[in-house]
Amino acid sequence: MRIGLLSFTFLLFFACKEDKTNTDKNTHFESSISQDSIVRDSTLNHDKKVPKKTFRTFEGLADTTFVRLADFSDGFAYDMRYATDNNFLEEKVYECGECYTRVKTAKALLTANADFKGKGVKIKFFDCYRPNSIQYKMWEIVPNSQYVANPEKGSIHNKGGAVDITLVDMDGKELDMGTDFDFFGKRAYHDNFDLPQNILDNRKLLKETMEKHGFWSIRTEWWHYNLSAASNDKVANFKWACE
Ligand SMILES: [Zn+2]
Repeated sequence: MRIGLLSFTFLLFFACKEDKTNTDKNTHFESSISQDSIVRDSTLNHDKKVPKKTFRTFEGLADTTFVRLADFSDGFAYDMRYATDNNFLEEKVYECGECYTRVKTAKALLTANADFKGKGVKIKFFDCYRPNSIQYKMWEIVPNSQYVANPEKGSIHNKGGAVDITLVDMDGKELDMGTDFDFFGKRAYHDNFDLPQNILDNRKLLKETMEKHGFWSIRTEWWHYNLSAASNDKVANFKWACE
């Protein structure tokens, strides 16, 4: 009996010791966490000190100057299809995808996008200014004026006054417009009303807002918008630098 009691006391002693060791470990562990937290917090504080991206302004720029939209706002989304082979040509025709337009087009796009944002959506670009040499390249692949503007005459894309766009929500999800970009067929026509109501509503939102900000559309492509004030500009062949 006495031996039993002794063993029990002995066990209790070690059990307590074990507990204490665990407590020590835990304390040590907790202190490591708080050390880490301090390090992490100081990293966060460091991040906070990094200045926010500053954007260019239009001050001093002529209305016909070519500018890159991303230098003026981070409020747009981009999927520059001709810089990939995911387009109707099935060929990559740009070395890199950038959205350039003339200043007056950029200004109108910024005000249109502010309007869209008030409705919980924003502009996503598929194509913007297209150098005339690229128009020649596209014409070589598809020499059919039903699909590609003849480069001799040029398109408003070559003038820096046209954009191919859709709308996305604030999470980047595309609104349903009924067809993909560059779908050539009746389903892409503005005057095709034989479509579900939500698609008609989405196209209406896009068209009415763009028209309000100085753009006009073409009947057969729901994604294409021309700036009215750009029609008299010259076809250009300015090329942007790729990093
Ligand atoms: Zn277009």
